[in-house]
Amino acid sequence: MTIQTPIDFVDADPSPRRQTVGVDVGGVIVGGGAPVVVQSMTNTDTADVDATVAQVAALAKAGSEIVRITVDRDEAAAAVPRVRERLDRLGVHVPLVGDFHYIGHKLLADHPACAEALAKYRINPGNVGFREKRDRQFTDIVEMAIRWNKPVRIGVNWGSLDQELLTRLMDANSALPVPRTARAVTREAIIQSALLSAELAEEIGLGRDRIILSAKVSQVQDLIAVYRDLSRRTDRALHLGLTEAGMGSKGIVASSAAMGILLQEGIGDTIRVSLTPKPGGDRTQEVQVAQELLQTMGFRQFVPIVAACPGCGRTTSTVFQELAETIQADLRRNMPMWRERYPGVETLNVAVMGCIVNGPGESKHADIGISLPGTGETPAAPVFVDGKKTVTLRGPAIAADFQVMVADYIERRFGSGSAGM
Ligand code: SF4
Repeated sequence: MTIQTPIDFVDADPSPRRQTVGVDVGGVIVGGGAPVVVQSMTNTDTADVDATVAQVAALAKAGSEIVRITVDRDEAAAAVPRVRERLDRLGVHVPLVGDFHYIGHKLLADHPACAEALAKYRINPGNVGFREKRDRQFTDIVEMAIRWNKPVRIGVNWGSLDQELLTRLMDANSALPVPRTARAVTREAIIQSALLSAELAEEIGLGRDRIILSAKVSQVQDLIAVYRDLSRRTDRALHLGLTEAGMGSKGIVASSAAMGILLQEGIGDTIRVSLTPKPGGDRTQEVQVAQELLQTMGFRQFVPIVAACPGCGRTTSTVFQELAETIQADLRRNMPMWRERYPGVETLNVAVMGCIVNGPGESKHADIGISLPGTGETPAAPVFVDGKKTVTLRGPAIAADFQVMVADYIERRFGSGSAGM
């Protein structure tokens, strides 16, 4: 094969971010060119202050930059200022968003301390009220946002879509010479619901820099189509999320596929990965997935990355799997402390490889990497630091020795004495 000239170099960059109007959510900027924000939502009863404080703190510690809580009744609204106070006392200043449905206008009016403590109100136009009440109650919430100087998210969800709007669009569609599918009409209704509600909010007096839009659906292709269209039709900040994504790997894959494509096209200012946890499962997994999505795509860096080979018939021991898992868990566990002590540590790349085939090559690309011995190979593990082989570890303590080397590397490169490295 001959090398072709001129050589076509392939770019590996996402499309430029769509320009949107930035919105300040309790000090966290969403849109306007700011980095894509990670957010999450609690599943505790907000009236249970202890449980809610504990979960918000855990989500914030995991890296959630905004946390949404349910405000569904008087007891929950009354608890919000206490939750805020307790979090502040713990030094957890993550902005809280109130999720309102049906009676948000009343709860905000009856509980001014709740209205003040929240950094943003989430309104679902399909659940604000019906017929003439809908506009009045929507107006009440928007006026409350203006009064307390808060932004709102107008969050349309196709599970609770404005049925009057949908019916109008369905009727108009059926009169067309070639009607579109019901699914296409539903997508249009979702988009129009978001845009019409945003226009109404602006007419009432809420600034464009106080409005974030979302239009969540549960199918990947629908989500991509809806947000592509929405981003063409508005410059308002966009919150991305696949609703009812599901449990475990299904939810992770579906959310990552949908949001990955949109983010690559420059669409989306904040993301939430809506995973259904197992009963008693760890709610912070959704934060980890959101961070990993943004980090693996190169948009942001949160936690050092461990590159590990998948393993194959060349490595029959579990040493390298255990080491990769231990190192990744160590890095994630230590990040809250390291973020302060070692600025820039989130850019670290570690490689843990299973044998000599790709081990040395991959390890050389990492900041620090180890190539463990495969089946039948000499029981020795070369370690590469900044692309150069430094030592070869041997014996039963290879894993522990490598962990110490990673910790030393972090101290040397990112510690206060690292100037000039
Ligand atoms: S590095 Fe070795 S053990 Fe790992 S996948 Fe490649 S060939 Fe298999």
